Amino acid sequence: MTLDALTLDTPYLDLDPLFYDPTDPTPLKNPYLISFNPDAAELIGLSSDAGTDDRLVGLLNGTFTPEGAKPFAMCYAGHQFGMFVPRLGDGRAINLGKSGTWNLQLKGSGETLYSRMGDGRAVLRSSVREYLMSEAMHHLGIPTTRALALIGSETKVVRERLERGAVVLRMSPTWVRIGTFEYFYYKEEHDKLEPLADYVIAESYPHLKGEEDAYFLMFAEVVERTARLLAQWQSVGFNHGVMNTDNMSMGGLTIDYGPYAMLDDYDISFICNHTDTHGRYGFGQQPHVAYWNLSMLAEALSPIVSKERMEKKLDDYGSVYTQTYVEIMCAKMGLATVKEDDIILLKKMLTALQNSQADYTLFFRTLSRYDGDGKPLLDICVDREPVREWLAEYDARLLHEERSAEERHAAMLQTNPKYVLKNYMLQEAIKKAEKFDNSGVEDLLTIARNPFDELPQFERYAKATPNEHKNLKLSCSS
Ligand code: AMP
Ligand code: MG
Ligand code: MG
Repeated sequence: MTLDALTLDTPYLDLDPLFYDPTDPTPLKNPYLISFNPDAAELIGLSSDAGTDDRLVGLLNGTFTPEGAKPFAMCYAGHQFGMFVPRLGDGRAINLGKSGTWNLQLKGSGETLYSRMGDGRAVLRSSVREYLMSEAMHHLGIPTTRALALIGSETKVVRERLERGAVVLRMSPTWVRIGTFEYFYYKEEHDKLEPLADYVIAESYPHLKGEEDAYFLMFAEVVERTARLLAQWQSVGFNHGVMNTDNMSMGGLTIDYGPYAMLDDYDISFICNHTDTHGRYGFGQQPHVAYWNLSMLAEALSPIVSKERMEKKLDDYGSVYTQTYVEIMCAKMGLATVKEDDIILLKKMLTALQNSQADYTLFFRTLSRYDGDGKPLLDICVDREPVREWLAEYDARLLHEERSAEERHAAMLQTNPKYVLKNYMLQEAIKKAEKFDNSGVEDLLTIARNPFDELPQFERYAKATPNEHKNLKLSCSS
C-alpha cells in the first residue's frame, strides 16, 4: 500500500470532548527525512516504497493528512516525582488516528491546549533517541511503542542552546496512561471512568468485553503486564528514567523515551536522569516505582472497582515480577529450567557483577560461550575475584544441566544480545545527524533491528563501553 491509500479512524473522538482537544500540527520549516523504518511501515500495511515517497515528510510534518485523520491531543494528569499534577496531556504530541490496531502520533508537532509553558517541540537529539530505542526494545522482545519515521528541520528550538526541531511518528497499540484515569478521578468527574475503561478494554483487552467483572479484570491484566514488563527492563538493563504515572501505559508497554539508558557496568544504584537527584527513578528502584504507580491506578479506579479486590491483586505484583525476572535471568545464565537454589546463584551473580564492574551486556554475551575457561569473562572485570568465585558455583550448577554445552550456547546467544544501544553510541549518531549526516542513525537502526546477530562492521559497539563514556546522565530538557 502507498501513503495515499493510508486510511485512519479515530475511535477516541467518540469519547466525551473532555478527553481530548482537536488540534492541528504546526509544520516545521524546511523539513527533511532523517530515517524511515520499514518494519514499522509493514505493521500498518505500508510498502517500503513509502520511505522514498515525498508525502512521508508531509505526513510527519502535518502537511499531508491521510484519509480519515482528525488530529487531536489527549488530556491526562499524572504523578510527577510523586507529586500530583492535575492537568498534563499531550503538550507536544498530536494524534492522527488509528490504522488497524496502531495509533499514529506525531511527537514534536507544535503547541496544543496542554502545552502549559512548553513550546510543543522536540529537539533532534531526543527524537533520534526515541526513534531508535523504541525499535531496539521491540527487537529485544520487550513490549514498546514503535516508530515509523523521523524528520529534522530548520525550525530553531530553544533549550540550553538553540537546537533543531524534529518530529517522530510513533505508533502504539494504546496511548492511554495511568494518568488518563487520574485526570478524571481527581477532577471528580467519576462518570468518565467507565467510558474510559470501556475504551481501554476495547483497545487493549478486547477478550474482556462483556465480562461481568471487566473493570477489575482490566486492572488485573495491567498489573500483570506491568510486572512482566519491569522484569524485562531489569533483566536487559534498561533504566527508563521518568516513571511518572503519565508515562505508564494502560497497555503495559514501554512508552515515552526520555533520558533513558541501557546499563554500561551493572550498577543497581545507577540513575540515568540527571534531574532525579534523589534517585526515585534509578535502575534498582524501577520495580518498586511501577508498583507504586499501579497503586495510584487502583486509587483512580476506586469509584468503579472494589478497592479491596484491587489491593489483593496488587499483592500478586511482586510474585509475577519475581517469577518472570528469575525465569529470564536463568535463561540468560543458560539454565534450561529453574531449580530451587538458582535464586541464590542468581543473587550471587548480581553481587559479583556489581562488585566486579563488568559491562552488563558483554558479560552475558561472553558467558554465552563459556566452556569452563573463565579467562574471557575475567578479562572484562575490573575486579576479577567476585566473578572467579561465582564461576566455581556456576560450574557446579552446570553439571546438573541436561543440555549439551553447544545447545546451551546456541540458546544463550539468542537470549543475550550482542548489541544494545548505549548512550555513547546514541550520542555519536546524534552528533552526526546534527551535521546533516544520517549515517549514524541508519547504523544504529540496523543494530537495533539485529541485536543478537554478529555484525562484523559494528564489532566495536559490542565491546565494553569506553571508560570516558560510561554512566552518562541525561537531562529531561528534550
Ligand atoms: P514527559 O516527562 O516528556 O513525558 O512530559 C511531561 C509532560 O510535559 C507531558 O504532558 C508533555 O506533553 C509535556 N511536555 C514536555 N515537553 C514539552 C514541550 N516542549 N512543550 C509542551 N509540552 C511539553
Ligand atoms: Mg476537548
Ligand atoms: Mg510523557
